Amino acid sequence: MNLNFSEQDQIFRQEVRAFIARALPADIQHKVVNGLILDRDDYVRWQQALHAQGWGGSSWATEFGGTGWSAVQKYIFEEEVAAAGAPRIIPFGVKMVAPVIMAFGSPAQQQRFLPNILSGEEWWCQGYSEPGSGSDLASVKTTAQRDGDYYIVNGQKTWTTQAQYADWIFCLVRTDQEVKPQRGISFLLIDMKMPGISVRPIITMDGAHEVNEVWFDQVRVPTENLVGEENAGWTYAKFLLGHERTNIAGIGIAKRELARLKRIASQEIKNGKPLIQDPQFSLRIAQIQVDLTALEITNLRVLSAEEQRKTPGPEASILKIKGTEIQQAITELMTQAVGLYALPLRRDAMAAGYQGEHAGPEYATSLAANYLNMRKLSIYGGSNEIQKNIIAQMILGL
Ligand SMILES: Cc1cc2nc3c(=O)[nH]c(=O)nc-3n(C[C@H](O)[C@H](O)[C@H](O)COP(=O)(O)OP(=O)(O)OC[C@H]3O[C@@H](n4cnc5c(N)ncnc54)[C@H](O)[C@@H]3O)c2cc1C
Repeated sequence: MNLNFSEQDQIFRQEVRAFIARALPADIQHKVVNGLILDRDDYVRWQQALHAQGWGGSSWATEFGGTGWSAVQKYIFEEEVAAAGAPRIIPFGVKMVAPVIMAFGSPAQQQRFLPNILSGEEWWCQGYSEPGSGSDLASVKTTAQRDGDYYIVNGQKTWTTQAQYADWIFCLVRTDQEVKPQRGISFLLIDMKMPGISVRPIITMDGAHEVNEVWFDQVRVPTENLVGEENAGWTYAKFLLGHERTNIAGIGIAKRELARLKRIASQEIKNGKPLIQDPQFSLRIAQIQVDLTALEITNLRVLSAEEQRKTPGPEASILKIKGTEIQQAITELMTQAVGLYALPLRRDAMAAGYQGEHAGPEYATSLAANYLNMRKLSIYGGSNEIQKNIIAQMILGL
């Protein structure tokens, strides 16, 4: 097992840094680094910049216009862009549905959908969860009934991130009610402009409109939008969930946010000294730093194993749990650093270019919302309790 980056990897890292310095728009970087609100255009511009470089599909095979990078290169890339303050790649198109279409979609679907995902022209959302079907995903109830060359879709999805922006949604739908739940699910691509679809916002506790309910009322979907075989959707759904794992630990993001925490703690004054010099507070920062370093090394071990084995293993669950705990701990310390100034929830003041007054120091304005928003990390993508079940069963053999 080799945990050191090779000389080639180091050269690659420099190449990525040079690209970021040249191509990451300063206004977007400012928003990310300061926890301000990003809009659709910010994400699209960054995807377009990546696409122009030929890096739009960092984890895609070259035959589909991807980079063909190794797992280590993907890791370096993800770490560098996150640490530099690039927006995260919205995963639903590039990292989720695209690999499914590549592996199981028809050539016509590959030609129709993949180029527009790569270029950022079409925006996707993920229609997996339903009320009552989150962790227990196999129980989805949204139905798709065959009617000639169409499926008639009825039901409700929920927690659908950024559905308000999406051109397409990929859905798990029930096509057979009579069999074992996993055997009656299909994977359907649905145009969000179809009559019968309505999107209703869910406002989260940080005041953001990030998630939605998506309702389907007699929506007619051409059968050509079925991916793979009817009733084989559970296999594709699991493939999708297991596919994108190199960045699950969020090391780059945690490094960037830890640096922000240190900046804040350097500016806050306690007992006449910068807070970062307070022994108790600095000890807590040090603990996070140690945890992050340990996680980074664990991540490299997993990557090293992946390079040999070529498939991701259940270790990703460890990375997810610890990675989310670290990111949440950083947001907790940030709010504690500024004390009362972390209480006001001021989304208006989180818009770039806001000229009004701030309740306290400007860097404190986004902290309440960031703290509340980051609670989601241990819920979505398989809650941390579910990850613990996976570790118990697949790693510990319990
Ligand atoms: C901000 C956000 C964005 C999301 N975006 C999307 C999206 O774009 N598309 C999408 O399809 N879904 C999305 N989700 C949904 C997400 O995948 C689910 O919330 C998640 O899978 C948990 O399901 P649930 O909410 O139904 O909770 P439940 O499954 O009802 O779980 C409730 C609690 O019970 C625990 N629990 C459940 N089962 C077990 C078990 N077997 N053992 C131990 N503990 C258990 C859970 O850990 C949790 O704490 C999003 C969620 C959030 C919060």
